[in-house]
Order: sequence, then C-alpha cells, then structure tokens
Amino acid sequence: MAKRKAIVSTQECVACGCCARICPRSAITIPHGIYAVIDRELCVGCGKCVKECPASIISLEVTEA
Ligand code: SF4
Ligand code: SF4
Repeated sequence: MAKRKAIVSTQECVACGCCARICPRSAITIPHGIYAVIDRELCVGCGKCVKECPASIISLEVTEA
C-alpha cells in the first residue's frame, strides 16, 4: 500500500521550526539550527508540516513502503 512521506527542500529552509512544532509525531528536528530533517520512520504523511511551512518548501511524496 502506498504511503506518503514529507520531504524538505533543505537548501531553502530558514530553520524557523514551525514544522517541528506542528508535527504530531515529533518526526522533525533541526540539527544545529541549520535546516529541518524529517525522520521517515516516524512520519505518517499527515501533511500538517506542508501547510505550516511559511516558505512552502515541504512536500509529500508517495512511497511504496
Ligand atoms: S507529514 Fe505529518 S507526520 Fe510527517 S513530518 Fe509532516 S507533520 Fe510530521
Ligand atoms: S517550517 Fe519550513 S522553513 Fe521552517 S524549519 Fe520547517 S521546513 Fe524549514
């Protein structure tokens, strides 16, 4: 069954932390305050971070896993 996972365009991330605060699975961290990193094992593809990001640089991709 196809699942969705969030991915970040890291080069455009301004490390504001909005996505990390909204994620219900605590799947997003910002190591060293540089850019957001999404743990694909924790992400359930809910899309909340996609809507929250002020820079609109998070998207959902369909995976087969
Ligand atoms: S899609 Fe949902 S679970 Fe996945 S990182 Fe974004 S807010 Fe968290
Ligand atoms: S909300 Fe967007 S700009 Fe802010 S830390 Fe997350 S991915 Fe980066």
